[in-house]
Amino acid sequence: MKICSLASGSKGNCLYLETGDTRVLVDVGLSLRETLFRMDEVGIDASGIHAVLVTHEHIDHIRSAGSFSRKFNVPVFASHFVNAKSEKYFKKTQVNEFESGSAFTFRDIQIDPIPITHDSCDPVGFVFDSSEGRAASVTDFGIVTRLITEKLRGCRFLNLESNHDVDMLMNGPYPWELKQRIKSRHGHISNEESLELLHELAHEGLEMLIMAHLSEVNNHPEHVLRSTESFLRDQNVCAPQIVIGDQYRASEMMEI
Ligand SMILES: [Zn+2]
Ligand SMILES: [Zn+2]
Repeated sequence: MKICSLASGSKGNCLYLETGDTRVLVDVGLSLRETLFRMDEVGIDASGIHAVLVTHEHIDHIRSAGSFSRKFNVPVFASHFVNAKSEKYFKKTQVNEFESGSAFTFRDIQIDPIPITHDSCDPVGFVFDSSEGRAASVTDFGIVTRLITEKLRGCRFLNLESNHDVDMLMNGPYPWELKQRIKSRHGHISNEESLELLHELAHEGLEMLIMAHLSEVNNHPEHVLRSTESFLRDQNVCAPQIVIGDQYRASEMMEI
């Protein structure tokens, strides 16, 4: 399994995942130019991508999903409702609609789009099952549901949101309404909530963890890294490689 976080945060999200014989992008939220630049930097051949998967229609996830798909003649996979709301991005784009909650097979992997709560229409996270095991990417969700917890069990690789520090958010510069939105069940999960979820998910087979979609204003990457490391050490059950997603630069290409 090969993984690269090309971008992670409110300015753009894009995750490269290669598992089995299949190479996909989860969201293409940067400009097409910047996406291709970063792919080139880490040695990803853009013409070798098989599909673009879209989690929801916020611009930091969908910006260049359609243009990437058209340029490289690969399908976009999006839910019916996201497709219906995204005409501007998906004009003349081959969109394969999926149903949130219904797993489908693409090439040699099974992709399970799992429903999450967020202030967009029909948002999902993705769980991937292949001969190389299970991987998942879940960002942009306001609450951790039982369904998310159950679906994410047993992953070798997790791309998991850790959006904000609650104190920094509440004492920070955002207007009250925005603070309420972020904290709500349709917002983003906090560092604490993310670690609580990890408490359920940590197991010996978890090899890599990307802490994703960190708020630039209301979080500290160093703090997230340290607290995640010490949290997992205290769990005493696994020691995965931990990477903090960055919106300004791609991670290394990682292999597990
Ligand atoms: Zn987002
Ligand atoms: Zn969003």
